[in-house]
Amino acid sequence: MNAYDSELVKSILCKNNFEITAVADEAEVVFLNTCAIRENAHSKIYGRLGEIKHLKRKNKRLVVGLLGCMAQNLRGGLKQNENMIDIFAGPDSYKRLPAMIDSVLETGSKEYDFSLSEFEDYSDVYPKRLPGVNAWIAVMRGCDNFCTFCVVPYTRGRERSRTVESVVSETEKLAQEGFRQVTLLGQNVNSYRSNGSDFADLMRVVTEVDGIERVRFTSPHPKDFPDKFLQVMVENPKICNHVHLPLQAGSDRILAKMARTYTRDDFIELVDRIRDIVPGVALTTDIIIGFPTETDRDFEETYEVMDGIGFESSYIFKYSERQNTIAFKKHPDDVPEEVKTERIVRLFELQKRKSLAANQREVGSTLEVLVEGRSKKTDKEWIGRTEGNKIVVFEKALTACRAGDLLRLQINAATANTLFGEPIATHLKLTEKADEFSSC
Ligand code: SAH
Ligand code: SF4
Repeated sequence: MNAYDSELVKSILCKNNFEITAVADEAEVVFLNTCAIRENAHSKIYGRLGEIKHLKRKNKRLVVGLLGCMAQNLRGGLKQNENMIDIFAGPDSYKRLPAMIDSVLETGSKEYDFSLSEFEDYSDVYPKRLPGVNAWIAVMRGCDNFCTFCVVPYTRGRERSRTVESVVSETEKLAQEGFRQVTLLGQNVNSYRSNGSDFADLMRVVTEVDGIERVRFTSPHPKDFPDKFLQVMVENPKICNHVHLPLQAGSDRILAKMARTYTRDDFIELVDRIRDIVPGVALTTDIIIGFPTETDRDFEETYEVMDGIGFESSYIFKYSERQNTIAFKKHPDDVPEEVKTERIVRLFELQKRKSLAANQREVGSTLEVLVEGRSKKTDKEWIGRTEGNKIVVFEKALTACRAGDLLRLQINAATANTLFGEPIATHLKLTEKADEFSSC
C-alpha cells in the first residue's frame, strides 16, 4: 500500500511541475513514506533520517517531509524531536503536499496535516509507476475492523471504496501501458462495497480488461468469503489461484482478545471450503506470536493449526505494541522477548518444512509462469512467478522470452523458497510492448 501511495505522491508532485530524482544529493525536497505497523518499521525511518541529516547540513534549504502512517501515528511526539523535518503529512493529505512545500520554502515554517478523510480515495490521481509487469491498484482505503493489536484504523482512518468504474478505467490504462498483472489492494480488500457492487463483482469486471493476464488481491479478511466470490475465482482463469489468508493466532482465547471475529474452527472450515471450491489453491498467511497473555498452550494451538493447514508460506511476526491501539491500552506486552524468540523460531522451522514439502510436490509438474525479469544474482538466470505466487528460476538461454511473457515451465527442482524450471513449449503469450519492461 505504501509503494502505491508513493506512486500517488509522485504523480501529484509531477502534476505540479516537480521532477522526480532518485539521487538524494540532487533533491530539493526529500520525502520518506513511513509505515507504523511494527516497531522495526519505525526504527528503519530513524535510520534513514540519520542518513538525510548530512544532506540538510549541506543544503539548508532542503525540505524534508515525513509521510504516511508513522507521521500520522506519532504526530506531536515527532514534531518536537525531529527538528530537521519540515513537513508531516498523514495518508489522506497528499494532495496538499505542493502547497505545503511552497509554504515551507516561502516562510521557513513547519507544515503539518494529520486530517483523516472519510472520502479521500485518490481515484482522480493516476499513480506515476515505474514500468513493469505488475501494477498495484488500491481499490479501498482505511479499515473499520479495529483488531486490538493494529494501528491501521488510527493511521489510515475509515474504510472507503472506490467506484467500480474508476478501478476499471485505471486497469484499462494500465493494460495499454503494457502492464500484464494488476494486484487489487485494500486493508480488507474483500470488504469492498461500492454502489451495490461487492468484491466478487469488482474482480469479475477487472478480469474482463483485455491485455491484463493476471489479477491478484491482498489482503482479504477471513470474515468476508462468500461462496459467490470463490465461484468467481474458480470460473475465471485470470484470477490467480492464491489466497493470502491472515490467521494471526490459533487459540480461540487469543483470537477473541485480538477481536478477529472468528474462532480456530471457523478458520479451518473456511480453509476447507476454499480448498473445496478452488482446487489447487495456494494458501499463505500472517501470524503474530507473543500477543499479551499468550501461554505455551495458546502457542501450541497456533502451531497445531499451522501444522494441520500447511500454508505454502507465511509472514510470522513478534507482537509489537502500538501506541493508541486497544491492546496498548488494555493488555500490557507481557510475553518476555526470549519466549517470543523461542516461539517464532519454532514456527519458522515448521513453515520451512511445510514450504519445502509444498514446493517439492510441484517437482515434475508443468506450471504457467509470468516472467518478471532477470534474477538478482545473474543475467543468465531469469525469474517468474506461478499463480500461487512462487518464484521460479530458469535459464534465460533456454528461451527467447521477455518480461511480461507467460511461459510453461517444467519444474525440476525445489527449495523451501524457490522452484527451478525449464521451458517446455513455445510461449503461451508474448508481450507486445516488451521493450518497455527493461526496468522490471
Ligand atoms: N488487513 C490485514 C493485515 C494488514 S497488516 C489483515 O487483517 O489481515 C499486515 C500484518 O501485520 C497483519 O496481518 C499482522 O499479522 C501484522 N501486524 C499488524 N499489527 C501488528 C502488531 N502490532 N505486531 C505484530 N504484527 C502486527
Ligand atoms: Fe489491522 Fe487488518 Fe485488523 Fe484492519 S483488519 S485492524 S488492517 S489487522
